[in-house]
Amino acid sequence: MTGKNIFKRESGESEKILLCQNCNEMLFICDIEHFERCPYCNSRIKVDIEVEDYILKPVIDKWIDLQKKPDPPFLEDNLM
Ligand SMILES: [Zn+2]
Repeated sequence: MTGKNIFKRESGESEKILLCQNCNEMLFICDIEHFERCPYCNSRIKVDIEVEDYILKPVIDKWIDLQKKPDPPFLEDNLM
């Protein structure tokens, strides 16, 4: 193990996928968010800034998306 996390980028996809340093399996956000361990080989995942970024990206993307919409439909529903 080198200590550096490896990311794989699918061709045609903008999303990158974290690979386990030990067994090279693809680790999805839902796998590592709560456990910080590889579900395949149980090796501990080193959470560095890149991995934090990886985990937080969908949350941030969703948040940015929400900010872009000036009038969320659920607010209109509540007013009527
Ligand atoms: Zn593994």
